[in-house]
Amino acid sequence: MKNKHFEPSPEFDGNMREAPPTSPKKKKKKHSKAFIIFKKLMTVIATTLLSLLLVIIITGTIVSTAMAAYVLNFMDESTNVTLQQLESGSDTYFYGNETNENGEKELAVIHRIKSDFQRIPVSIDRIPQHVRNAFVYTEDERFYVHDGVDYKRTFSAFLNLFLHFYDTEQGGSTITQQLIKNLTGDNEPSPARKIREIFSAMQLEKTYSKDEILEEYLNYIGFGGPVNGIQQAAITYFGKSVDDLTIPEAAVLAAIPKSPEEYGPDVIYHRDNDPKEPVVVDGRANNKPRQEYVLYKLYENGAITYDEYQEYLVTPLLFRNSEEYKKLHPEDDAKELEEREKAYTWVVDATYYEAVKIFMDKYDLDYSKAMTKLQKGGYRVYTTYDDQMQKYVEEKMLSLENFYPAYLSTITHEVDLEPVDHPDGKPEVYTPHVGFVAMNYDGEILCAVGNVGEKTQSLVDNYAVLNKRQVGSTIKPISGYGYGLENNLLHWSTTFPDSPTLTGEDGNPWPYNYGRAAGTGAQIPVWRALQNSFNTIPAQLCAKFGVDEIYKFSTEKLGLDLVPNDKSGPSPLTLGSLHEGVTLKNLVNAYLPYGHEGIYNEAHIISKIEDSTQQIIYQNNGNPRQVISDETAYVMNRLLKNVVENGTGTAARLTNKVVCGKTGTTENWYDEVFVGLTPDFISGITTGYKYKSDSLEIPSGISAKVWMNIIGDWANTHYLDTPSDFEKVKSVIEMPMCTSTGLIAGAGCGKGAIGYWKSEVTDNYSPPYCQGAHYTAPAQTTTNASTGGDTAGGGAAAGGNAAGGGAAAGGDAGAGAGGYTGGGDAGAGGYTGGGDAGGGAAGGGGDAGGGAAAVGGGDAAGGV
Ligand SMILES: [Zn+2]
Repeated sequence: MKNKHFEPSPEFDGNMREAPPTSPKKKKKKHSKAFIIFKKLMTVIATTLLSLLLVIIITGTIVSTAMAAYVLNFMDESTNVTLQQLESGSDTYFYGNETNENGEKELAVIHRIKSDFQRIPVSIDRIPQHVRNAFVYTEDERFYVHDGVDYKRTFSAFLNLFLHFYDTEQGGSTITQQLIKNLTGDNEPSPARKIREIFSAMQLEKTYSKDEILEEYLNYIGFGGPVNGIQQAAITYFGKSVDDLTIPEAAVLAAIPKSPEEYGPDVIYHRDNDPKEPVVVDGRANNKPRQEYVLYKLYENGAITYDEYQEYLVTPLLFRNSEEYKKLHPEDDAKELEEREKAYTWVVDATYYEAVKIFMDKYDLDYSKAMTKLQKGGYRVYTTYDDQMQKYVEEKMLSLENFYPAYLSTITHEVDLEPVDHPDGKPEVYTPHVGFVAMNYDGEILCAVGNVGEKTQSLVDNYAVLNKRQVGSTIKPISGYGYGLENNLLHWSTTFPDSPTLTGEDGNPWPYNYGRAAGTGAQIPVWRALQNSFNTIPAQLCAKFGVDEIYKFSTEKLGLDLVPNDKSGPSPLTLGSLHEGVTLKNLVNAYLPYGHEGIYNEAHIISKIEDSTQQIIYQNNGNPRQVISDETAYVMNRLLKNVVENGTGTAARLTNKVVCGKTGTTENWYDEVFVGLTPDFISGITTGYKYKSDSLEIPSGISAKVWMNIIGDWANTHYLDTPSDFEKVKSVIEMPMCTSTGLIAGAGCGKGAIGYWKSEVTDNYSPPYCQGAHYTAPAQTTTNASTGGDTAGGGAAAGGNAAGGGAAAGGDAGAGAGGYTGGGDAGAGGYTGGGDAGGGAAGGGGDAGGGAAAVGGGDAAGGV
């Protein structure tokens, strides 16, 4: 309820009342000076009388009716006022688990955002009695006896609301009331606010002790500018803790809260804010008489003797910003400067990026507003990173020499990227960036290093978590193959012809394989197509399954941050040439279900955020969800294992741990990528040049090696207590491939390398057992019989397949293995080449032997 009579508005101004509404200015000019003075006097008297009358009316009103209404109305609000709301400072902290000397992890502050608002809370026990006295006797003499409201002062404050005896109404407020005002931020200059404050103060006094209230008050009040709370004030103005304040120093601080802009000891205002102009406000000078008043109040209340009072009046004060203090404490400035200039760590940067994104989403803010909120809100941000892994990788990545040794000369390009002019005539030297990120299978980011070299600036380019890059062939397992496998549209040994079945922009058949090798038309099974990263086959998958469906799978199931343009054609989802690219973090994250039985967890470096009242406002446990079946995940896991054991990723092989992985290279070698999964964690690297230029190339096929050089030792030796391989999904069929058909070998089949098939039976799928419809090659000799070092029999078989494809097609047709039947038409021997037929040679020489003829260019052309 708002009573109009409560408003101290111009309606009560004598001038307004007396002057008629028309042309008051003209009339005024005619009055004599004496009349004006008389009129003003009358105005004051009238105002006073009217105001007194009003006060009486108001008091009566309040007591009789309004009071009851306010009590009912504000009791609820008052009870909500708790001291917890005040307890934390408003600096924001980032926490991490750091390893201590005993090798144990403990929560540690890894970053503090000093907001403009500075406060260091201290408990009342640490605040000396003389400091408490200085404030109590100056601000609220009857603090220890009143129940939150000092009625004598309240009455005068009420009068002041109308009569303006003094400038601020602080004089009418008890310490409890001032605390309420700070707490609620309620500064409305109205009687309604005053009444709210009174009831809140009384309520607070019922809930808390005097010590608790005084503690919060002293920790909360402003001491000028960003300085809040007694401890921060003691440090700012005297360079010491509150425990060490002397009585004259305490008196200086107690002098400030009445009006920090006026009494703050560091306040200096020049006219027009121009340092060359004279000083118009000198806080130090203003503070002195007020400090003397505080000392007097201490003496008056018996807290100090007269002699002490006299002595303290003249005790010299050593302010922190004085030359004398600086001479005595030279370390002070240096430390502050060092702190200010130190660049954030990679972890802190990554935490910032994620926190700002969280705030943008949660509070619907733009970037800069979200950043401000984070920095000033007094939040506690808890992170997930592994300090030891982070340190290890950061050290590796200090220099390219540590992990790029063989390529240093080939990656350093001296190029004049026009239109840059170089005064010294020398072209600029470009070296590639490298980003590394690692996370566990709960999605917790363990390590994020955004670039190579020493970090000298905060919030910079970050190829681990921020900058989007091209992903190349690493898209393949998380686009067409993943989709096909999950939906039973292909399996381990489904074959596709290695031929460019689409038409490119230039009207030619599209796509080529790696190194611009055209497809040979040979039938290639899925495991091999992925192993050697054929481009021709993923393009067919896009055409066959539909770009939209695959896009949906990649984005909705595996969380890849693609843009709608990425489904405008088959190229992005086939070759990974994305319109905007994705971050390395996002790419690695998309692989997570393949090491985690189909369960996806979102990558996150922030596990929890608390606000300044220790309420949890955000929590992330990865939000685990089954996005693909465990069988799909495990078959893909084995396909990726094969890539590292036999394909483009062999440089990432470890002795103690199984590594699953995929390489990626973008067109023209601007970017190279590797994603690697071990049973312990999943990680990836990206390397490339910031600028796109034909003069800047990464040596081809090095991404697995770079990954190995950065994290290989760690991955191999750091987790010796954990299993060396991923846990099997037991329902997945793990059997030798039939050497003739590539399907699940039966009793009468030659047994080749191990393959993996889903066991589930659906409308469009059942496990593809070989039905024994084998083609027997006629005896002959071919040039490739001698390759690969296989047995003569194996060599012959290889030749047989190659030469006799047509016949094989007929024979295989009965096998019922969808897609496996096409070998004949191209005359390129079926499946993997005869090498496998030799038996034991499965993954080794056999591939090479057979491949030479049967798969033809396949191996050589195999993309990366
Ligand atoms: Zn068979």
